[in-house]
Amino acid sequence: MLVAGNWKMHKVPSEARVWLAELKRLLPPLDSEAAVLPAFPMLPVAKEVLSGTPIAYGAQDVSPHREGAYTGEVSARMLADLGCRYAIVGHSERRRYHGESDALVAEKAKRLLEEGITPILCVGEPLEVRERGEAVPYTLAQLLGSLKGVEPESPDRLVIAYEPVWAIGTGKNATPEDAEAMHQAIRQALAERYGEAFASRVRVLYGGSVNPKNFADLLSMPNVDGGLVGGASLELESFLALLRMA
Ligand code: PGA
Repeated sequence: MLVAGNWKMHKVPSEARVWLAELKRLLPPLDSEAAVLPAFPMLPVAKEVLSGTPIAYGAQDVSPHREGAYTGEVSARMLADLGCRYAIVGHSERRRYHGESDALVAEKAKRLLEEGITPILCVGEPLEVRERGEAVPYTLAQLLGSLKGVEPESPDRLVIAYEPVWAIGTGKNATPEDAEAMHQAIRQALAERYGEAFASRVRVLYGGSVNPKNFADLLSMPNVDGGLVGGASLELESFLALLRMA
């Protein structure tokens, strides 16, 4: 299991320092893995505070380029140097507000793998697609498009996050049964792409309005291997509550 907190564009480095130190102090013994994914300026703080602890950290995005004249971009090599274990690629907010295509997301995932960072690849359908009954084919097309040319050397080098767009930040989570059906379909597609043995070990996270009230039911599903958590990862108490459940 992996519980990853996506802070999005929240907190500043001085707040993160205090928050992460508290997390470290209060961390319960874990059966699963915990990760914090703050905005880029907080990564040096995460490195300082979390090094030597079981808590992983990582980024929310990465450049598709290796290096060069790309003003404003952050490379996978920079993230690796900062000790990032994970980075999100293809979050729906980036697909939507920054026009990111599946092909671009695949390039980003490849840059991460080159630097030994595990991509957390997000996929998921908008509401109108679910209402048309096309959620599964839509999401699988997005998944396979975003994995084009992406060849992780082992299953722990890839994490998929199913995040239905209509569930993100809305307080409306997918039902455990709907999440499970999609996770099964994702795992089947991964089996066709990478083989059964690989697919059975890839972690498929659910994301979208996860909170301490709904997380246990989602986690009880056999193909739900953890959560990618936005809002409920910002408060220490709720993040700790989620970690205790996983
Ligand atoms: P949410 O966000 O938990 O606030 O819905 C999840 C995400 O976007 O990763």
